[in-house]
Amino acid sequence: MYINLHTHLPTQNDIEIYNIDIRQPEIEKYPGYYSLGIHPWWIEQIDVDEMLAFIEVQMTDQNFLAIGEIGLDKLADTNFDLQVKVFKKQAILAIKYAKPLIIHAVKTHFDIRQILNKMKFGQPVIFHGFNQNAHIAAGLNQPGNYFSLGTALLNENSNAADFLKNADLTTIFFENDDKETDIKHIYHAASELLNVEINELCKLIENNFKTIFLHERL
Ligand SMILES: [Zn+2]
Repeated sequence: MYINLHTHLPTQNDIEIYNIDIRQPEIEKYPGYYSLGIHPWWIEQIDVDEMLAFIEVQMTDQNFLAIGEIGLDKLADTNFDLQVKVFKKQAILAIKYAKPLIIHAVKTHFDIRQILNKMKFGQPVIFHGFNQNAHIAAGLNQPGNYFSLGTALLNENSNAADFLKNADLTTIFFENDDKETDIKHIYHAASELLNVEINELCKLIENNFKTIFLHERL
């Protein structure tokens, strides 16, 4: 079983978390797992209060697995203080409803963790598309942090590949994000980098998924 932690292009063949576009959320018809959240890029294009209310209404839906992708982006046009404000509001919702976060971070990994630590945030925090250097990885080495690795793994010289080789595998997921790449290719690249059998790797990630998202204690 292959699990795609974060995708904008659902196939409905694999187990995947479809990241629904908050600008046109057609949730009623979507049958699988999904994430929903206000991405920093879209804050100024939507009615934030209306969307927060909408996210809260969805909370009781069992297929709504995580608030995301949300976060902070230093390269985005959106005013940074406003990004922080909207991020915190969503983190408060995540605390209230015990939901994990799927994080979009651009040059803000430490800012995000600092904000969450101040809030005593105790839910899982998954840094998606993680492809950071050893310094940032070391700074994020704290219980509750998880890392979803994407197509960067297809390049064995990437930060993501280096990170994976020494990572605690109970904190790892894989994703294809907005790429057409089959999630199996990312698993296979990871299996080679780690020198771990593909079946064993699938099992490990499945366990992580069940623990965090389905609250099954294994
Ligand atoms: Zn994405």
